[in-house]
Amino acid sequence: MQKQPQRIIVIGGGASGLAAAIAAAGDGASVTILERLPRVGKKILLTGNGRCNLGNETIRPERVHGSCSFAAEMMQKFDTVQFFRMLGLYTRTDAEGRMYPMSGMAASVLDALRFCAEQRGVQMLCEMQVTGFSFRNGAWQVNCGTQCFSADAVIVAAGGCASPACGTDGSLFPVIKSLGIPVNTPKPALCAIPTDEKLVRPLKGLRVRAEAAAIVNGKCMKRETGEVQFTGHALSGICIFNLSRIAAVHGKKAEISLNLLPGYSPEQVNEMLRMLVMQRGALPASELLSGLLPKRIGEVWLKQIFGTLNAPAGELLHSDDARQRLTALLLDRRFPVTGTAPFAQAQVTAGGVSGEALSDSLEVKGMHGLYVCGEAADTDCDCGGYNLTWCWSSGTCAGHAAAIRRNL
Ligand SMILES: Cc1cc2nc3c(=O)[nH]c(=O)nc-3n(C[C@H](O)[C@H](O)[C@H](O)COP(=O)(O)OP(=O)(O)OC[C@H]3O[C@@H](n4cnc5c(N)ncnc54)[C@H](O)[C@@H]3O)c2cc1C
Repeated sequence: MQKQPQRIIVIGGGASGLAAAIAAAGDGASVTILERLPRVGKKILLTGNGRCNLGNETIRPERVHGSCSFAAEMMQKFDTVQFFRMLGLYTRTDAEGRMYPMSGMAASVLDALRFCAEQRGVQMLCEMQVTGFSFRNGAWQVNCGTQCFSADAVIVAAGGCASPACGTDGSLFPVIKSLGIPVNTPKPALCAIPTDEKLVRPLKGLRVRAEAAAIVNGKCMKRETGEVQFTGHALSGICIFNLSRIAAVHGKKAEISLNLLPGYSPEQVNEMLRMLVMQRGALPASELLSGLLPKRIGEVWLKQIFGTLNAPAGELLHSDDARQRLTALLLDRRFPVTGTAPFAQAQVTAGGVSGEALSDSLEVKGMHGLYVCGEAADTDCDCGGYNLTWCWSSGTCAGHAAAIRRNL
């Protein structure tokens, strides 16, 4: 007698859900995606500023966070280029190792995933918000308001709480918790870090290259180099995004240190300042640092140290002590963390279904046929295409595992 295909419900038609559906359908399963929004893949269209940084040449484990201890290895083993070739999408890699679709368009990535899912017979049912699921009478029952779908396996690919306009508000986490599955508290990550407005408002709109460090209880937890942007109330930019999960986890115990002259020792900076005072000492203090940094930073910081700019530069900085105070500020300007950015401004969620509850095929331990992948699981990564790599790799893994289970 011919075997009936495995019936699989995928909750959520984002990056990980589409990857899971493609893998499961490729193994012969009958797959249905339930997506609450009017169409699948809305978030994919926003990624990489519309260009979709879909992967990274090198997966460095220190860029992968959360409680899924197997995540980095799973990502390393996943061949992103080959995955997209299989979908008929070519990629290119930039000098920093970030991968993009050859077309330069995120829409091509979504199209490739959709075409493949359609070709493999995946049913994509939109405007279907899942409100609950449970295992009853030998099958999984998935509720969408008044409708109920029966399945042999369920793959939760409903994302986290970040960017709720893309359909991800974390409303499935309480349902998951009610089944006794541990969920680590979701926190916003890859976002700006709010700080003391008085320190950043005068610099609003400025961008500088800096080394940024997250300091907790005096200890440096992580260091990143890149462009830092000052908004009216926060520090922003990719290197700040990569520190934001530390700020979210440690809250007001954390502070951000900016070094505006990375690579220079305090002695070298002191000497630079001494030279500048010799060359520009007779000019207004506001002109002292404009050969070194954006003029506004020099003006604001000199005023913050000396209380005035209404003096010639040489007068303010004639003493070694004054130059050392300025040196310390240029190399280690501290910004207190005053809160967390809202989920609406975060690119990913730190937290989600605990990795300790998942097997390395992403099945919930002790609950046969229930899988969790993508951002719904407690894995988040730094910028650079890592988050989508996690989605493609974990979705593919869960899809194959769910489809193959009953075929054994
Ligand atoms: C602006 C922005 C830019 C980004 N850029 C990049 C980038 O360039 N590179 C990178 O690697 N990462 C990037 N990311 C992160 C990356 O997009 C996400 O990590 C990834 O899309 C998460 O995929 P997912 O499948 O886990 O969840 P999502 O893509 O969030 O999809 C989850 C889906 O589930 C649906 N859903 C939720 N709840 C329910 C429910 N109860 N019933 C039915 N459906 C439900 C949602 O509507 C949604 O469609 C970016 C994120 C943002 C917001």
